[in-house]
Amino acid sequence: MSGAPKRPDLTERFGAREADGIVRCDACPVLCRIRPEKLGACGRYANREGELVRTDPVVFAQRVAEEGGTMVPFAGTAWDGSLVHEAETFVTGIGSGTTYPDYKPAPHIVASQHRGVDTVTVVSEGIFSYCGAKVKIDTDRHLGPEQAVVRAKGEPIGHVTTAEYGSQMLALGGVNHLTGGGKAEGRTTCESLLALCNGEALEVSIDDGAKVRLQAGQAPVVDGEPEERMRAGCGSAVAGMFAQQFFGKADEVVVVDDHITAVLTEHQAGRCLDMPPSGLRVRGRKSTPGRYFQVAEPGAGWGGTDLTDPLLLIERIDQGKAWPGMRVLFTSTTGEDALFCRLDENFQLQPEALPSELEAVVTRIGENCEPSLVSVLFMAGAGGSLRSGVTENPVQLTRAVKSGDCRVTMGGAPVYHWPGGGITVMVDVLAMPKEAFGYVPTPALVAPIEFTLPASLYQGLGGHMDQVQSLDEVLASYGETASVTPWREGNPWPLEANGRNGGRR
Ligand code: SF4
Repeated sequence: MSGAPKRPDLTERFGAREADGIVRCDACPVLCRIRPEKLGACGRYANREGELVRTDPVVFAQRVAEEGGTMVPFAGTAWDGSLVHEAETFVTGIGSGTTYPDYKPAPHIVASQHRGVDTVTVVSEGIFSYCGAKVKIDTDRHLGPEQAVVRAKGEPIGHVTTAEYGSQMLALGGVNHLTGGGKAEGRTTCESLLALCNGEALEVSIDDGAKVRLQAGQAPVVDGEPEERMRAGCGSAVAGMFAQQFFGKADEVVVVDDHITAVLTEHQAGRCLDMPPSGLRVRGRKSTPGRYFQVAEPGAGWGGTDLTDPLLLIERIDQGKAWPGMRVLFTSTTGEDALFCRLDENFQLQPEALPSELEAVVTRIGENCEPSLVSVLFMAGAGGSLRSGVTENPVQLTRAVKSGDCRVTMGGAPVYHWPGGGITVMVDVLAMPKEAFGYVPTPALVAPIEFTLPASLYQGLGGHMDQVQSLDEVLASYGETASVTPWREGNPWPLEANGRNGGRR
């Protein structure tokens, strides 16, 4: 394509020209009046030569069909402005802009054909006041008590929520921190969510807990120490999984875990192997045979407890059952900590070097640990006025999303749609193209969102049919100003995905 790059007339679409070369941006409630060669308050729009422009390029995602049906991503990341006919193109909401007030149709309503079916994709950048991030941190280490406040730059931005199996969980953001507190709290919450969702690192501190460095897809750093391993299982699970490998090499094994500490000979796994009781009694609240809760305080020691010496677990040793020379292994659930002891004539446990055959089992526990990672799911409510940019009868869109007839994606990534009312979605930020998120100073996050559905259904639910453009028209209107990204492997192609809105394959 030759000549100056074409740009869509954003001044008309998202704002208006005013006197003295000023342009007004109507893309969000702030309604910035932008002087020549200046940026709007969010940095997403600018006044260039008296025209309103979006400062980030619109992003098209492309994949190419190979003969035989296997799909491979389009290799280029820059576009020469020509249409790539052998590629399939999906217009993402990234860089597409936002129409406000909400009765205006979405920036792009794109018609395309897929397998002979006329399809429409409604493309926008949503402004989300009700949004946040659910953060999963693969570690047993105690990061802070449940409900403790999580802070960035000293401002509250979320809290510690219910732990999951092998992972600590944070709930960050949400409308109460964005708009329900002070200005600094709202601004810091917005900045923090933006950084996390765009894949940048974020330092947080937890009241009465740890300082943690969070970055999607990277290992968490807890109080300056990078976490390496997620536990192989709880103490009871590790005792069961490796019982046969411990058998004959140790007379007793204690798997130290903040959740369930296991004592093998008392545990069902040891009983099934006919291991004689060792007479070792550990502290804590007995749950079922060989499984103990609350053996210590939570902390950064062995197995997510505050213990650095596992012998402190021992409450007593029953001399009627134990015997001098008895071999006892203590291990954590990640295999990062292990201690071998032998019972002496005075019924005292004496540490010795770990025998190589037991070291191999401890190493095997470590091999069964997955790498410790931080995962970030962006969660937002799209069930409000944003729907009017899609259809004149918003509840119909909600119903179509619920039934699975309308596929929701964010930057092309599949979302999980929560059951019940509204359009409440979650998306893995790593399944989205980089730098997909922005913000506005209200404060709220801006995220791409696309609704894909059959054209006949779109018409039936009151869609803005007079605004439908062909894919070629949209591509041509951006020319060289657009950016092309390869389709992300693992993301279902939105035009052919049927059924409920779910996660990645
Ligand atoms: S904050 Fe950004 S989107 Fe909102 S009016 Fe200003 S420039 Fe436009």
